[in-house]
Order: sequence, then structure tokens, then C-alpha cells
Amino acid sequence: MDIAVIGSNNVDLISYITRMPSEGETIEAPDFQLGCGGKGANQAVAASKLGSEVLMVTRVGNDLFADNTIANFKEHGIDDQYILKTDATSGVAPIFVDQQSRNSIIIVKGANALLSPEDLENAREDIAKCKLIVLQLEINLETVYAAIEMGKELGIPVLLNPAPAAPELSLERVKSVDFIVPNETELSLISGMPVDTLEDISNAAAVLLDAGIKNVIVTLGARGVLWVTASGEKLIEGIAVDAKDTTGAGDAFIGCFSHFWVSSGDIAESLRLANYYAGDSVTRQGTQKSYATGEDFRERFG
Ligand code: ADP
Repeated sequence: MDIAVIGSNNVDLISYITRMPSEGETIEAPDFQLGCGGKGANQAVAASKLGSEVLMVTRVGNDLFADNTIANFKEHGIDDQYILKTDATSGVAPIFVDQQSRNSIIIVKGANALLSPEDLENAREDIAKCKLIVLQLEINLETVYAAIEMGKELGIPVLLNPAPAAPELSLERVKSVDFIVPNETELSLISGMPVDTLEDISNAAAVLLDAGIKNVIVTLGARGVLWVTASGEKLIEGIAVDAKDTTGAGDAFIGCFSHFWVSSGDIAESLRLANYYAGDSVTRQGTQKSYATGEDFRERFG
């Protein structure tokens, strides 16, 4: 096993709209798609499409979405022994994407909220075989903290994507992670600092470094990525693309970074490739569907 993704899965209900509805208004969407999503699942699928062996620890509900989600994990070759059936609804995410590719997303956590520290204990033996633990915040925070502790105990590096932005996240309890990968909004919330300029972003990242986190990797949308460590910072500029749908770009980035970092240990090169991979994904509609396979990615970017 290469990567343990401990996190969420959702069914994305994506409406493509001409403009955002205002309060109390009903509008017609010209197009609709149902897709498998959830930050954990997206990141697992991106890494797996690139060739990593991924162990997914997650909870699905007992409804019609669960079988579809399990089938999707299997189709992508993701280890399914810890995809746990739960007496609850599955996680669902109604998503609106407008013609300027702006999106609004509602998350119904459902079974995701029930993934527990005990579930991780049950999977400990297999998590211990992985080279990286990847976490996001669409599950219970206590489970996230337990996974970070488990990583420390097992000597496995941990990557935390602190998304979606969670005001109640304790920096103190996540300070041992090796990589934190926030977008600007999430960085501002965790650091309590403004992020209006690149200098602001560096200063905000410094708060996380001071807490003890080794690598702060801030995704900046079309502008690319800023990697900040105690010894300096590096801006990796976004690639110029015709963006159609940026939903799931951050997850593509994390799945790809995890894949290449696990196979090479080279952070700079893995960031460069992940920036290309995520940039490429926004040129196509959908989340997991928009992620290139290893073969397609090599063909496009050499
Ligand atoms: P999130 O989706 O989590 O908010 P970002 O919007 O920061 O994350 O996007 C993640 C990464 O995807 C960026 O760091 C960049 O590499 C790539 N990306 C996103 N939007 C674009 C775009 N319009 N053009 C090129 N690359 C993009």
C-alpha cells in the first residue's frame, strides 16, 4: 500500500446553471450530472488513477448511493476493506456551477460524520503498511486528530488538507503534520491572518510554521501554489488554461502531489507536477471524471 486516505465520500449532484439563484428564487438548470465525490474520495481516486495503491478508510450509508460509491472505488482499484456500511444516509453534495465556472457547494455529511477513532483502530494494521496518511475535514474532527496521532505513533508522514474551512479546528492538535495544504480562505481561518497579498500569505503561513508544521503548501487557484518552509518559499505559477470547471481542483492537486511524493520523496518536483495535473483537470467538467490517468497525464505533459 502507498497511501491511506482517511476521509469522506459524497455523491455530487451537480447542476450547471446560467447564474446563481437569489433567495426564494427558482431557476432552471440547463444541465445536470451525478458524480462520485467527497474530498477524501476525490483525492484517493486522483492518486489511484496515477498508479498509487490506495487504502480508503470511509463510511457510506445504507441508501441507493452507497452501492454506487463502493462500485466506483472498486472500479478505480481502491482497496475497499474499510469502506464501512453505516445505518445512516450517505454523504451528498448538491453543487451549482455557473457559466463563469464559479461554484457553490452544500455538504450533507451523513455517514461521513460517523467515521470514528475506533474505525481507525480497526484499520491500524493496514494503515501501518502505508507511506503517507492523507486527511481532510469532511469527517469528525476527533477522528482527524486521532489519525494524526496514529501517524505519529506509526512514524508515517501525514498530509492535512484543512478543507472545508473549519473555524473549530485546533492548530495545536494538528501541528505535528508534515504537510498542510490549505487554499487562501482556509489559511486565513487557521492562521487568523489576512491573505490579500502574497506577502500576507507568507506571513499567514509563518504562523503555521511557528506552530511546528514543516511544509505549508498554499493553493492559489489560477495563480498556482506557494510552498513555504522554515528555509524559504517558492511560488509555482499556475498554468494558463481555459478553465471550465474548477470543482475538485484542490483534490486533484493533493492526490497528485501525494502520488509523486510517495514515489519520489521530491517535494519540489511533486508540487510542479501536481500544479500541472490540477490545472489540466479544470479544463474538463466534473470532479473525479476530470482527473487524467497516469497515461493521459504523461501524454499531455511529458
Ligand atoms: P480549491 O479547489 O481547494 O479551492 P484552488 O482553487 O486553489 O483549490 O486550486 C487548486 C490548484 O488547482 C491550484 O493550486 C492550481 O494548481 C490548480 N488550478 C485551480 N484553478 C486553476 C486555473 N483556473 N488555472 C490553472 N490552474 C488552476
